[in-house]
Amino acid sequence: MARIIVDEGFCKGCGLCVDACPVHIIELDPARITPKGYHPAHCTDEGACTGCTSCALMCPDVAITVER
Ligand code: SF4
Ligand code: SF4
Repeated sequence: MARIIVDEGFCKGCGLCVDACPVHIIELDPARITPKGYHPAHCTDEGACTGCTSCALMCPDVAITVER
């Protein structure tokens, strides 16, 4: 099992990771706002994360860490 950690200090809510995830478990969290004023990415189903790292590779701000 794997999980992602999103650094909300770097996430700018661009959504590129949302589109990059092949199992569709990332969304921009409407309930949270980062210090810079964005809705940050978060994982909706950690049990489904394959640890493929597509999201981390896609993130232009290197805000995602994948733990496997
Ligand atoms: S790609 Fe990076 S900056 Fe963009 S929403 Fe995802 S974590 Fe945030
Ligand atoms: S590591 Fe892969 S499966 Fe897990 S959230 Fe990122 S893109 Fe999705």
